[in-house]
Amino acid sequence: MVRGIRPHVVGRTLASFRRSKCGLKVIDVSPEPKRLARIIRGQTITSVRRFAKRVVLTLSEGGDFVIEPRMTGLMLLSDPPTTAHLRVEWRFMKHATSAYPSLWFWDRRGLGTVHYYGPGQFEELVCTRLGPDALAMNAELWTERLARTARPVKVALLDQTLVAGIGNLYASEILYLSRIHPARPANALSRREIARLAAAVQEVLDDAILHEGSTLADGTYRNALAQNGRYQNSHRVYARTGMKCPSCDAAIERIVQAQRSTFFCGRCQR
Ligand SMILES: [Zn+2]
Repeated sequence: MVRGIRPHVVGRTLASFRRSKCGLKVIDVSPEPKRLARIIRGQTITSVRRFAKRVVLTLSEGGDFVIEPRMTGLMLLSDPPTTAHLRVEWRFMKHATSAYPSLWFWDRRGLGTVHYYGPGQFEELVCTRLGPDALAMNAELWTERLARTARPVKVALLDQTLVAGIGNLYASEILYLSRIHPARPANALSRREIARLAAAVQEVLDDAILHEGSTLADGTYRNALAQNGRYQNSHRVYARTGMKCPSCDAAIERIVQAQRSTFFCGRCQR
């Protein structure tokens, strides 16, 4: 999502910001959109990055827009899946060569949030509450973080204060690649298992970013230019209950942990 929009929004100057009149559940935007429109007018977007499942747009005066897409949110430049679910618009100043007049936040279920933080506030308020970004962790840091909890490793991977940026789908894939059973206590993993886990996190998350997210069954997770993501073609266990494990032919199993589905191979993952 971030890669898709970056080349089209970095360097663009903002003209306005508004909530679209969609008549659906009002999504959480702060501060109040009219005030926000005054703050951001004339500022240029200097960077776009992802931080732990959020999209962060940094502006020229140092403030940050932090967009949390949650289940069904998307950052789009064009072709929304539906116009009814467009929630928020950042309108750019006219630009001679760009085909995109606006950046949109589209959200079918309306669980996403858009917050603007003044210079330095995001760093202070948000980053200190979240664990380190999963992609920035090495085996040593994994050992330190996992030692803090005896909860099942799958549940620990989803705890954003322990490690930020791993979603439910990816947690199953990561544990499968690591050959670790999802119910194992997080603090009981061996050095070797943690090394495999650290490598699997990089592989799975890099791959996910490369393919810009997965298209789940309802097709609402698409990339910024609204093409279907392709990561789902490489799921090894996620949503494959009863299908054959790609390496041993045993049937993939599904269990529920902390109200979330987990998929795994009982033969490969110990
Ligand atoms: Zn297997």
